[in-house]
Amino acid sequence: MPERTGILYLVSGPSGSGKTTLCRRLAEEGEASYAISCTTRPPRPGETHGTDYFFLSREEFISKVEQGDFIEHAEVHGNYYGTLHSEVVAKLEQGIDVVMDIDVQGADLVRACPDPVISNALVDLFVMPPNEEELRARLTNRATDDPEIIERRMKNSLGEISQWPKYTYRLISSTRENDYALFKSLLEAERLKTSRTTDLNQ
Ligand code: 5GP
Repeated sequence: MPERTGILYLVSGPSGSGKTTLCRRLAEEGEASYAISCTTRPPRPGETHGTDYFFLSREEFISKVEQGDFIEHAEVHGNYYGTLHSEVVAKLEQGIDVVMDIDVQGADLVRACPDPVISNALVDLFVMPPNEEELRARLTNRATDDPEIIERRMKNSLGEISQWPKYTYRLISSTRENDYALFKSLLEAERLKTSRTTDLNQ
């Protein structure tokens, strides 16, 4: 039996907040397992199936919804996104921390999830850019999306930012290193919670 149960580190924030970089780095450093989502959006240059996302057709995605394969799924920026049970639950039970990068609708659905393995493990964090100009600059500098898509993401982002009070934690992004240090210290503090130890009754 693991010494403690796994933490489900749920991270949201608008496109361009830097949350994906934070989540990926945590996984690369071996601190947590990254829950790879399914999506119907086409891959960006450099993205690969099974690493960044499981890229599915709409039909494949809907069939997984019907089979009950998802913990949550939502339509974001005109495409479907969803988190597979298989990416999360067994890992938490083995004491492995899992990090998930999902939108505000998905976060609402995970919070409402009746499975105690998920609800007891959940730590939710909202990452946001320091201001609107910085958000626009980050979306534009990424340069992997068309101007039309950038505008759509900008508009959606402002709507997403209004949801931050629903989260237990909020991180206002500054430099990559500073963001990561704060991000990791939150996880480390959560790991020390007595409620997560599995030997409480010994
Ligand atoms: P992107 O297309 O830029 O990779 O992601 C767009 C948005 O979809 C981001 O806000 C990201 O957090 C969200 N997202 C990624 N995976 C999932 C998922 O499995 N479920 C939900 N609800 N949102 C997701």
